[in-house]
Amino acid sequence: MDNVVYDKNRPFLAKMIESRRLTRETSDKETRLFVFDIEGSGFKYKPGDSIGIYPSNDKTEVAFILNKLQLDPNHKIQLPRSEKTETIQEALEHHLDIMSLSRKMLEVFYERADYGETKTKLAALLDIAWENHLRAFLSETTLKELVEAFPDLNIEPHDLTHLKRLMPRLYSIACAQNVFPNQIHIAVNIVRYQKSNGNWQKGVTSSFLTERVFLNKPMVPLFTTHSPFKLPEKPETDVILVGPGTGVAPFRAFIQERIHQKASGRNWLFFGDRQRKSDFLFEEEWLDCFQKKQLTRMDLAFSRDQEYKVYVQDRIRENGKEIWTWLKNGAAFYVCGEASRMAKDVEKTLLDIIKKHGDLSQEQAEDFFKYMKKSKQYQKDVY
Ligand SMILES: Cc1cc2nc3c(=O)[nH]c(=O)nc-3n(C[C@H](O)[C@H](O)[C@H](O)COP(=O)(O)OP(=O)(O)OC[C@H]3O[C@@H](n4cnc5c(N)ncnc54)[C@H](O)[C@@H]3O)c2cc1C
Repeated sequence: MDNVVYDKNRPFLAKMIESRRLTRETSDKETRLFVFDIEGSGFKYKPGDSIGIYPSNDKTEVAFILNKLQLDPNHKIQLPRSEKTETIQEALEHHLDIMSLSRKMLEVFYERADYGETKTKLAALLDIAWENHLRAFLSETTLKELVEAFPDLNIEPHDLTHLKRLMPRLYSIACAQNVFPNQIHIAVNIVRYQKSNGNWQKGVTSSFLTERVFLNKPMVPLFTTHSPFKLPEKPETDVILVGPGTGVAPFRAFIQERIHQKASGRNWLFFGDRQRKSDFLFEEEWLDCFQKKQLTRMDLAFSRDQEYKVYVQDRIRENGKEIWTWLKNGAAFYVCGEASRMAKDVEKTLLDIIKKHGDLSQEQAEDFFKYMKKSKQYQKDVY
């Protein structure tokens, strides 16, 4: 092992050694397990930690842009918010976000455009009265789409510095280092969606991992980030884990660690997704844990398996009395996954359970819940 310390500013180039689909082919979602070899990185991580991955843009898309704009790929430009310079080729491939645009960039093009159709169209886009329209256009339009839509744009190398920086994406680590000392596992939802202009868009990092990384080649720049989302200090503490979709990833690490520790505390998993037959992530592993009583309880919510929708928060509510008994006994409650709806609904359900089964007033239940958060009996990691 060398003595270099790898971190956000100096990521380790990891080899991807496995890429496996976790959802079945019949699923309308693609979620994959990626396994990285981190031997030589010196990374030390704990269950609950995450990694950051620096993606690269699609080379063919970059080549298309360079060709259309007639820019010299070897011309050097300064990177936004940095003293560093890179060639245009390198900047477009690895450092600039070419999937969205900035207002400043459009303003520069507008100023420089000759009077004519392009200038009129840019003026319409920048019209203050259509602020929301502009915001949607900037976030939805890629640099490639812009140069296609405005073929006579006069773009100079410096204009590219008005693009945003390509930022690393975070992923929950889905394995315990005590079990996989030289590996990092992550479960990634592959992002693909149709935009309002009708074009299909892929997520930069999920498509990078799926389409542009070759197995067993040191190609994935990554670093570890430490999180306060942690297992209880005492292995005898019971845990309730709520992780629908890829939110289950850190709980795979939690359970591996608890098995490794021979923790005597009980483990209760709530998992949910769309359909059991196609979207049950890590199904064999969970069933095996359940059979071996490493999972004391496992409650599943597959929203599309029946006429009415069932979510993890519904399963939590159904088990309210039992959950309250576990909580009174000191069980730690964890939530991971989608922030916008699920986490809020789970929180509300938990508050209702505390109120109902603890026979408390709204105010007392809120105080109890506040204390759970403060004492880390309740922890969430949502995105
Ligand atoms: C702490 C933390 C942990 C995380 N852990 C995981 C994890 O374990 N697994 C995981 O898969 N992700 C995880 N994420 C999310 C992850 O970091 C990325 O945001 C995600 O993978 C998308 O990255 P991307 O580069 O593929 O997509 P991007 O290129 O960043 O595109 C994503 C963007 O596309 C847009 N978009 C996506 N879908 C649609 C749609 N249907 N309609 C319109 N617009 C849409 C949204 O603006 C979205 O922000 C985590 C995030 C955090 C902060």
